Amino acid sequence: MKTIGLIGGMSWESTVGYYREINERVKNSLGGLHSAKIVLHSVDFDPIEKLQHKGDWAGTAEILIGAAKSVEAAGADFVLICTNTMHKVAPDIERSINIPLLHIADATAELLVKDGVKKVGLLGTAFTMEQDFYKGRLSEEYGLEVVTPGEADRKRVHEIIYNELCLGTINPESRQEYLRIVNELSKSGADAVILGCTEIGMLITQAHTDILLYDTTAIHAAKAVEWAI
Ligand code: GLU
Repeated sequence: MKTIGLIGGMSWESTVGYYREINERVKNSLGGLHSAKIVLHSVDFDPIEKLQHKGDWAGTAEILIGAAKSVEAAGADFVLICTNTMHKVAPDIERSINIPLLHIADATAELLVKDGVKKVGLLGTAFTMEQDFYKGRLSEEYGLEVVTPGEADRKRVHEIIYNELCLGTINPESRQEYLRIVNELSKSGADAVILGCTEIGMLITQAHTDILLYDTTAIHAAKAVEWAI
């Protein structure tokens, strides 16, 4: 079994989900007392969030490169960034280490393509919904048509992530908001909706809707286990 490197803490609420999902899957695959070999570098999210909102992505890259080098030095065979948003600096990280990076958008897009999804809704931070590092990768490299909510709803989705989910707050009204937005994406022709932020699965799950959801935390963790064993 290979050692999985995790860059977590963005937020730690969702890193808990990675840890659990990866270990559950290793246990299910290998049985008995097997558990995953994991090296976790968990960062302090506060300075990163401030740099993101100032647009200082080079500053965020510097922190994550340090984290990636430390998991490599600690024996990780490959690395995951446990957030969709911070894949904005994935190319900088890849250039700085000698182990492969398992990209969350690739893992998700491969599954969507396999399942025959053509047009997909995307929920995530404003950075993920609006910038090309994520949306562009889905369309250019995988031929997926990506739809996002309108401006006011993108703002709402973004605020709920940073002001509630990343703090571990689960608000039933926010759940209704998200479900309304998921419905609208479906009405605009999306075959499925990507939960493109690693905390969204804490708020809405497949049990809440008939519209097909793709939870990036679960997909990323599952692919990591596939790589590991
Ligand atoms: N975990 C979130 C994501 O998947 C947002 C937090 C962050 O900005 O990294 O995008």
